[in-house]
Amino acid sequence: MSTFTAQQNFPIYTTHQNKVRTHLTPEMYEKMYKRVTPNGVTVDKCIQPSVDYTGKIVGLVAGDEESYTTFNEIFDAVLDDHHLGFSTTDKHPPPELDASKLVNAKMDEKYVKSCRIRTGRSIRGLCLPPAISRAERREVERTLVDALAGLKGDLSGKYYPLLKMTPEEEKQLIEDHFLFQKPTGHLMVNSNAVRDWPDGRGIWHNNNKTFLIWVNEEDHCRVISMQQGGDMQGVFARFCTGLKEIEGLMKAKGRQFMWSERLGYLCTCPTNIGTGLRCSVHVQLHKLSKDARFDDIVVKLKMQKRGTAGEHTAAVDDVYDLSNAARLKSTEREFVQLLIDGVGKLIEMEKRLEAGKSIDDLVPK
Ligand code: ADP
Ligand code: MG
Repeated sequence: MSTFTAQQNFPIYTTHQNKVRTHLTPEMYEKMYKRVTPNGVTVDKCIQPSVDYTGKIVGLVAGDEESYTTFNEIFDAVLDDHHLGFSTTDKHPPPELDASKLVNAKMDEKYVKSCRIRTGRSIRGLCLPPAISRAERREVERTLVDALAGLKGDLSGKYYPLLKMTPEEEKQLIEDHFLFQKPTGHLMVNSNAVRDWPDGRGIWHNNNKTFLIWVNEEDHCRVISMQQGGDMQGVFARFCTGLKEIEGLMKAKGRQFMWSERLGYLCTCPTNIGTGLRCSVHVQLHKLSKDARFDDIVVKLKMQKRGTAGEHTAAVDDVYDLSNAARLKSTEREFVQLLIDGVGKLIEMEKRLEAGKSIDDLVPK
């Protein structure tokens, strides 16, 4: 690298629409060009998705915990842009893993078919998927499986590595919404994070499949609490308890989650930092989903819409995956409450439409 200048190595952006391109000036690139994190991660590793994909994306990934600070110029600029204002002096609030303060958290089961809360967590000292080695990935798996073996009662369960699953078992778990698929999205593919698949990947779950841990997918781990029906209170309570217990069990073995006082929990994708929390329902809205204002209402209520089988899929029988859009600047409890309140409003509108009445006064401005 050292024989060539930053200028000679600067990416060529043409029709690219990503946020790295918006903010990465040659001067900024030059400052970061020769920096290397303690794990050997360079700025080129972090911006690679911005070069190899022309669509509307963020285009930035972290190769390790230190990427966020070593390449602070580009990370700070992208974070500020993506999170609609997050300056270098702004701070994400401390964690609030407390289900007792939720209100109206039992949702109407005529409309809400299932509830799910997930977050991403990374293990300090090990590279993130774009830069991880096979040995480190196996160490992530070992650390998690070790800690998870300590969970008791309703939370106790078993680890199922992809390597030992039959294709039928894997397919069934995916269809039942429990397991991830091999990532095909730009973030993972263009950051070279899908290497060595399925080595080190797997799913741990309790017997009821209401508490699940994805190992080495987009993050070191994804912690998920989910169940059929509308009991978001129960789902969040289990999420908080399980997550705190895993953290305690890991600490007892000398391991910690990556966490920054300013940025909160750190993940591979800078859009996921803060809480990493996506609280979603599968909600059936026959009438409202056919209203021309539906998409706009969802965005105004600070929510995000996905299809029935998750990101990049379509809704089946008017069942949508609705979740909080943001992950940063509010606490876990606040994001869950935002989803409960937002979906509550959508259900109110749906009922009005069922009765043949106008929703004009309910539509957010
Ligand atoms: P994430 O990246 O947040 O885990 P994805 O969009 O990749 O979410 O979806 C992962 C899986 O989780 C998919 O099978 C999706 O259908 C399922 N899922 C998401 N929300 C719910 C929910 N509320 N109820 C049931 N399944 C859900
Ligand atoms: Mg996903």
